[in-house]
Amino acid sequence: MKKNLVIAIDGYSSCGKSTLAKALAKKLGFIYVDSGAMYRAVTLYFLRNNIDVSDDSAVADALQHIELNFHSRDYESHITLNGEEVSDEIRLMPVSQNVSEVSAHKIVRHEMVKQQQRMGKSKSIVMDGRDIGTTVFPNSPLKFFMTADPKIRAERRFKELESKGNNQTTLEEVFENLAHRDYADTTRKESPLVRADDAIILDNTNLTQDEQLAFAIGRVEPLLDR
Ligand code: C5P
Repeated sequence: MKKNLVIAIDGYSSCGKSTLAKALAKKLGFIYVDSGAMYRAVTLYFLRNNIDVSDDSAVADALQHIELNFHSRDYESHITLNGEEVSDEIRLMPVSQNVSEVSAHKIVRHEMVKQQQRMGKSKSIVMDGRDIGTTVFPNSPLKFFMTADPKIRAERRFKELESKGNNQTTLEEVFENLAHRDYADTTRKESPLVRADDAIILDNTNLTQDEQLAFAIGRVEPLLDR
């Protein structure tokens, strides 16, 4: 039997990583794992419980009380935090504004990476995030590094928030948040966002979703058992 295949997708915030990852997973019958949702759910827990990220023992203790689970419906990834569905709440600004600080924490990363590696052990998955090709699955045979013009990215995320009925956030705030997260994610000490040497660059500023999927499938096909 063929070994399971892990496809790693990394890149800047709001580059369309999850859109491509979901489409690929659907096409290939793989499981889609949104690693960012895990950092976001941990952040939500920290916010709700006033966990001080500079207090290592409080962080370690809090992680003991967090159970995350994914439920896939129509390749939309839904995440639960201690049994509560939080998929929508983790996309809102309070979480977006704090997630980079929480995800920079060594103990948080250690725990999330451990859980992510477990998910790719026996199943074929597509996982998107910031350190999937460099730290979580450095041996993945197929890695993509996605990028796009920052203004286009902000517009896409703004429209996504609007479509979910969130009218409190302005386009400027979304742009600032993306710039802040890109900076924090690429400059942090613990597994910063960086392209793995063997990752294929995919700049989707001027590409449709179908074009991106066709490009990615073209790279997957040679790796599949026929
Ligand atoms: O992918 P998404 O934008 O939802 O991720 C939210 C945040 O989670 C990122 O800005 C980053 O700080 C963190 N993250 C990470 N490593 C990952 C996935 C996400 O540090 N593998």
